[in-house]
Amino acid sequence: RSVSVITVDGPSGSGKGTVCRLLAEALGWNLLDSGALYRLTALAASHHGVAMDNEEALVVLAAHLDVQFNVNEGEEDVQIILEGEEVTQAIRSESVGNDASVVAALGAVRKALLERQRAFAEVPGLIADGRDMGTVVFPEAALKVYLDASVEERARRRYNQLINKGLDASLETILADLQARDARDKNRSVAPLKPADDAVILDSTIMTIEEVLDAILEEARHRG
Ligand code: C5P
Repeated sequence: RSVSVITVDGPSGSGKGTVCRLLAEALGWNLLDSGALYRLTALAASHHGVAMDNEEALVVLAAHLDVQFNVNEGEEDVQIILEGEEVTQAIRSESVGNDASVVAALGAVRKALLERQRAFAEVPGLIADGRDMGTVVFPEAALKVYLDASVEERARRRYNQLINKGLDASLETILADLQARDARDKNRSVAPLKPADDAVILDSTIMTIEEVLDAILEEARHRG
């Protein structure tokens, strides 16, 4: 049986995560949050005192990640357990995100995570969220989406999220971090962030999440 795959790639803060969760819900499909695997590798490294440029040790960690994803009824977030410890919130920090993008630039680490990602493609279908889902991991996907948004708008959204949670935040710092992360993701030599040749490009700067969701569902319907 062939499994339908919809890939959604794009920069940090474009709304991919939310859109992918809603898509998976609407279609009743599985969801791959590939960024979580890079974040988990980075977090495991910091727990084990492995430096973010120690490629050999990072590959071993990536290949043997001891992780569980628990989908709990009525909970928005998938609960993530790393080496027996709940890290659902911990992997979302800015520092883990920055470390993840450093680790993700290493080709051998990406290779170590490739088959684990492909194993998520199970019936009835998969929504794959990441940077290279359409270009590298699922090149045969039925529908490839590239979700973009201006870096200023992405910084503003992230800032508002933090403020709404009652946390401290600086718009300037967030903007600078996002720019650095974008540059690392787009300029790396392996699997750089870019739209697949056959991707549908959407820009969430000027679209609401609902409009993005509808546009993707409409494209999916067209392709049967
Ligand atoms: O999407 P998220 O912000 O969780 O991803 C964290 C980092 O992991 C990204 O900045 C990127 O460097 C890396 N990543 C990647 N390829 C993917 C998903 C994430 O390189 N498919």
